[in-house]
Amino acid sequence: MKQYDVIIVGGGLAGLIAALHLSHKNYSILVVEKKEYPHHKVCGEYLSNEVIPYLNRLGVSFEGIQTKSIKTLLLSSSSGKSLQTELPLGGMGISRFVLDHLLFAQALKRGVDFLTDNVLTIEYRKDAFEVGTEQGDKFDAHLVIGAYGKRSSLDKSLKRSFIHKKSSWMAVKAHYENNDFPDDMVALHNFNGGYAGLSRTETGAVNFCYLTSYKSFQREKNIQDFNSNIIAENPFLGEFLKTSKPIFKEPLTIAQISFEGKNAVDNHIIMCGDTAGLIHPLCGNGMAMAIHSAKIASELIFDYLESKDRNRAQLESNYRTLWGEAFKKRLWAGRQFQAILLNKTLSGVAINLAIQTPMLLHRLIKSTHGKTL
Ligand SMILES: Cc1cc2nc3c(=O)[nH]c(=O)nc-3n(C[C@H](O)[C@H](O)[C@H](O)COP(=O)(O)OP(=O)(O)OC[C@H]3O[C@@H](n4cnc5c(N)ncnc54)[C@H](O)[C@@H]3O)c2cc1C
Repeated sequence: MKQYDVIIVGGGLAGLIAALHLSHKNYSILVVEKKEYPHHKVCGEYLSNEVIPYLNRLGVSFEGIQTKSIKTLLLSSSSGKSLQTELPLGGMGISRFVLDHLLFAQALKRGVDFLTDNVLTIEYRKDAFEVGTEQGDKFDAHLVIGAYGKRSSLDKSLKRSFIHKKSSWMAVKAHYENNDFPDDMVALHNFNGGYAGLSRTETGAVNFCYLTSYKSFQREKNIQDFNSNIIAENPFLGEFLKTSKPIFKEPLTIAQISFEGKNAVDNHIIMCGDTAGLIHPLCGNGMAMAIHSAKIASELIFDYLESKDRNRAQLESNYRTLWGEAFKKRLWAGRQFQAILLNKTLSGVAINLAIQTPMLLHRLIKSTHGKTL
């Protein structure tokens, strides 16, 4: 059975960044990702600038990729009441298809091992892990990072408590051709039961991604009817759908999105990204949080692996503390932001208030984002 210093379960943003960071010292690392690269993902594809300097330090270069520099936010209520404001920090428009693949290629170059397989079991025994995959492989590791995203069958086998709570959210994403949408804008438009994000990616396509409650979605028969009858009620979204041409054959969908609290360490596994906690997508900060959490985990793992008397309990406790300090307030602010936006009356009042006092909105945006890494 092959042994690794660190096995990373899931090769999305958190897993790939942890792999890249850890590859800077001579430890053996395996990433097990269930899907082949490159692949599309349900995501708004707005990457906050707070993580760009850290990505550059890791050696990630966006040269030759036509990423979009996003500086402006357009926000609208379901009735079309709107405001436009400069973003305090701004972000980058880049598809997950390209971003994840770029990080994968870089990690591969740096000597990280990759396996395309679905991890079914992670067992901790006698100060070590055994990781088992669907194709029947087994690997030993001294440490395991859980970076397998919002939800996986692994959460059941690891008996994580959030998995038993009902979740009432689903999300849909597709790319569209549209000549009018500005390159430097991210738009967040409310509709009955959810909200949609629009921003341009490196290909020039506009990414249209929305989160909605099942309750709202179930009133319609399918995505097309939902788009025409519910989403298009917002005049901005109605105009977008009328003037845009879908590029994907079918939109991508994900279900059972849970915003319940999770543990940053479970069964001795260091959880990163959405596996440790998911911020409401309207904050546009989940990717930055995934990257930041991988940075925190990797720095602590270096300290641990290099110390003469390795103390696993200390590593776990330090990670819990630093994770909480970095993200708990942001998750709370995101919950408040979402509650306001999804309330028909409150969202109109809040947009009026923000038009009169733009500082309020800036403060709210800042409270859901971190400092530049
Ligand atoms: C509707 C919506 C819109 C969003 N918009 C934005 C946005 O605009 N900006 C932003 O910053 N954030 C956004 N987010 C959040 C962002 O997408 C996530 O926070 C981010 O992708 C988290 O990265 P991750 O690495 O934790 O998970 P992921 O990127 O989901 O990666 C997890 C990986 O694990 C793999 N995996 C799962 N189970 C297993 C297994 N058992 N074995 C092996 N591999 C496995 C998966 O295939 C996947 O590749 C949005 C989220 C949603 C739902």
